[in-house]
Amino acid sequence: MDCRVHNFYIASETTRVMTDSGQGWHHRETCRICGGKDLVMFLDFGYMPLAGGFIRKEDFAKEGSFPLRIYFCRTCKEVQTLDVVEKEVLFKDYRFLSSVTKTLSQHFEQYAREAKAELGLDGSSLVVEFGSNDGVLLRPFMDIGIKAVGVEPAANIAVVAVRRGCTVVNDFFNERVVETIIKEHGKADMVCGNNVFAHIDDMHEMMRAIKLMLKDDGAFVFEVHYLQDLLETYQYDMIYHEHMMYHSLTALSYLLGLFGMEAFDVKRVPIHSGSIRVYAKNKSSGKHAVKPTIGQMLAAERSYGLDKEETFFKFAAAVRDKRDKLRQMILSFKADGKRIAGYGASGRASVHLSFCGLGPDVIDYIVDASPERYGRFTPGTHVPIVKPEVLQTDTPDFMVLFAWNYEQEVLRKEDAYRKRGGKFIIPLPEPKIV
Ligand SMILES: [Zn+2]
Repeated sequence: MDCRVHNFYIASETTRVMTDSGQGWHHRETCRICGGKDLVMFLDFGYMPLAGGFIRKEDFAKEGSFPLRIYFCRTCKEVQTLDVVEKEVLFKDYRFLSSVTKTLSQHFEQYAREAKAELGLDGSSLVVEFGSNDGVLLRPFMDIGIKAVGVEPAANIAVVAVRRGCTVVNDFFNERVVETIIKEHGKADMVCGNNVFAHIDDMHEMMRAIKLMLKDDGAFVFEVHYLQDLLETYQYDMIYHEHMMYHSLTALSYLLGLFGMEAFDVKRVPIHSGSIRVYAKNKSSGKHAVKPTIGQMLAAERSYGLDKEETFFKFAAAVRDKRDKLRQMILSFKADGKRIAGYGASGRASVHLSFCGLGPDVIDYIVDASPERYGRFTPGTHVPIVKPEVLQTDTPDFMVLFAWNYEQEVLRKEDAYRKRGGKFIIPLPEPKIV
C-alpha cells in the first residue's frame, strides 16, 4: 500500500496557519454576501486537489493542492469557503457540457416552459442567461419563440452553443459586458443564471450586473444546489474548491435584500441531487406578488436549523463518521483479496478518493462515459479512468458507485455486470452494498 498517498490526502483536522502561498490561491477574510467577519469554520478537509482536475500522467509533478475548509457566517447565514483558488487555475480546464446528459436537457426544457408561463413571456420578451454553457437553456427558450442571449466565459463551450444556433457573448458577466448587450438588444425581461452562483467570488459585482441588465419589472431566475439537500443526504462529495458557496433561501434573501430585491417564488427541484429554483424581482416592482412558498421555505429552514452553527458542527461530525465507515468497508474488502473499481469519474469521485485516501493500490480503475477523460487520472489520487466497455470483459468484485445520485439508472444499465456476480458499493447517504 502506498502510504505516501494516504498520509498526504487524509484530511487533517488540525487547522494549519494558511496564508497566501503564492501558489494560486489566497485566503479572504470576509463573507461573500454580507461582507462581515463573524465567520466560524466547521469542516476542514485539509489540502485537497481540484476535484475537476482530471490529469494526464505527464502533469503529475505539476499538480497542486489547496486548503478546503468550510465556514458558516453568523451574520447572513451563508455557508462558504474562504480559501479562494485563482480563477485561472480553477477553471482552466473546464470540461463539463450540460447537454451531454439527457436528464439535464429535459430539466431545462421544462424550465423554459415554466418560466414562460410564470412570467408571462412572449415573442417580444428578452431572456439573458449568464453561464449559458452549451446552450442547454438558450435553445429551449428559442424553440418556444423567446429571444435569448447567453454569456459564457469558456470559449470552447460557448462555441458549442453558437453551433446550435444560439446568440452568445464569449465573456464574463459584468457591468461592462451588460452595457454592450443593452446597446444591441435592450434590457431583459428575465435574467437567469443556473449553477453558476456557487462559482463566483465577487457576488456583489454579479448582482450589480444583474440589476443593470434587468428591466425595472423584470425577473431574475436562478438555480443553485440547495444547502438543506446537501445536509439531509450528507453530500460532502459536493464540497470542493469549485463550489465556493452552499446556499439556503435564508442567505440568498439577505443577498437580494442588499440590492433592493426579493424572492417571490421558490421550488425544490431534483436536479444535481437537490436544487432550488428561485424567482426574484425588484422590491419596487408590483408585477409579481410574493407567493406563500417563500415564507414556507424560510420557516422550514429555521426549523431545520440552517440559521444555527450547531447544525453544521453536527453535520461535520456525521461526515467524518461516514467517511470512516466507507473507507473501512472498502479496505476490508481489499484485505480479503477482492478487486475493487469505481463508477463515474466526476468531482464527487475525486472528493471521495482524496478524502478517504484511496489510490490505485485500492481502486483498480474508474469507468466513465466521457471520452475526453479516457487516459487521464483522478486528481491527487491518480486512479486511471477507462471506458465503460471494460466492464463487458472484466468483473471486479465491487464497483464503488461514485455517481450514486444516478443509482437506479446505473443499476439498470449495468445489469449484466451484476448478473455475473458484481456488486455496487453505494457511498451515500449511508454506505451500503447492492
Ligand atoms: Zn455573511
